Amino acid sequence: VIEIQGLHKAYGDLEVLKGVSMTAPRGHVVSLIGSSGSGKSTLLRCANLLEDSQQGEILFEGEPIHWKGTGLHRRPADRKQVLRIRTNLSMVFQQFNLWAHMTILENVMEAPVTVLGRPKADVEAAARGYLDKVGIGDKCDVYPAQMSGGQQQRAAIARALCMEPKALLFDEPTSALDPELEQEVVKVIKALAEEGRTMIIVTHDMRLANDVSDHVVFLHKGLIEEEGAPSALFSNPKTERLQQFLSATV
Ligand code: ATP
Ligand code: MG
Repeated sequence: VIEIQGLHKAYGDLEVLKGVSMTAPRGHVVSLIGSSGSGKSTLLRCANLLEDSQQGEILFEGEPIHWKGTGLHRRPADRKQVLRIRTNLSMVFQQFNLWAHMTILENVMEAPVTVLGRPKADVEAAARGYLDKVGIGDKCDVYPAQMSGGQQQRAAIARALCMEPKALLFDEPTSALDPELEQEVVKVIKALAEEGRTMIIVTHDMRLANDVSDHVVFLHKGLIEEEGAPSALFSNPKTERLQQFLSATV
């Protein structure tokens, strides 16, 4: 679904991604791990075109992004393409980012109705279905502040699903949660993986990465230091940096 080739990204003089290549084939789960500041969130945001990048290619379902300009002046050339790709790669953030003044049902319905222009009745039926699926079907008329963190994050996942995206991108979906609430969200992510959803998951939770991923990518200072199947990577890390990282996270 998504293919990234040799991506470079800098903020001013700070080079954050120094030539990263990664693919998330249809039906696969790819986890991104690495120390704080290694560029994980930046890579996810570049994939979604929330950030510009200076060099390298991004392909969505085999279709390359059209760019105009080069280097620091490079931008996507086609706004319709950007919108199509962004709506097809739904993001779930660490801090949920639900709208406080809307009920949970309204939160889930908002983008499909306003951005995609889908009929309200259809979207409402779908939204209720997704809220049921993540186990909070009884919370439709509640406001985010009245829910636990785990429930809010599950609502954010239902909202992402309601866009009917080709892939889901998670940026540390469980990091803001207490351990008990974390497991509610992990359960939902595991169920989505079992359904064969395409997902890229940035996580500090090595058990989650091990349990759900087809492929794990270890980023270090803007470069892929090591990658592979989770069984190989976690039980037999080859590079010293990954060995150090894993022993520090246990
Ligand atoms: P964490 O695990 O803490 O979330 P990360 O791997 O997601 O870390 P990024 O958020 O991608 O790391 O940041 C990579 C580097 O880019 C960091 O050095 C960060 O300070 C820098 N950075 C990120 N966003 C910006 C920005 N908008 N402007 C300037 N520098 C930024
Ligand atoms: Mg991050």
